[in-house]
Amino acid sequence: MASRSLELYVFNMNLSGILVLKSEWREERSGNQNEFVTEEIVCLKDGKPLRMIIETTFFCGWRMGEPPSATVISEQAISEEEYHQIIEERGSIEDTEVYRTAMGEIYRLRDTLKEMIPNCPNCGARMQERTGRFGEFWGCSRYPKCNGTQKLTGELKRRENEILVKIKELEERLKE
Ligand SMILES: [Zn+2]
Repeated sequence: MASRSLELYVFNMNLSGILVLKSEWREERSGNQNEFVTEEIVCLKDGKPLRMIIETTFFCGWRMGEPPSATVISEQAISEEEYHQIIEERGSIEDTEVYRTAMGEIYRLRDTLKEMIPNCPNCGARMQERTGRFGEFWGCSRYPKCNGTQKLTGELKRRENEILVKIKELEERLKE
């Protein structure tokens, strides 16, 4: 079973040999409509087998673009035998080398995207893409407190779309 949280498991939590046993998804009914993925996994941390339950929050609404955050709900040490038995029963482990390579590339592309976002000329806050009567533009993320805007050029938009397509392709590859 592939996992949307895998990059967090691998990069932020330094887990390997991951197998997802159970995955549940829910969405906030109101507010930002953040998404939550709760997963039960077996994995290795510093070579020690663990069974963990982890909840990942994927931010939406005004927090869209923030990196997802993972919370460990429970963590239990299991024996090597138990770990190998589960892996044998449930099929092969995710090939984390493949993930590391693809994820490394995704991270680089996301950083490039972030670097393309200008700061507000009035207050210095990060800007967000907005659509108005005359097309797309950069607007201050502190709007309506700040009315700062900046031109969003077609050239930048094109580059941004190219990068987004590349990211999507890599993400699709990870799901296969
Ligand atoms: Zn501003």
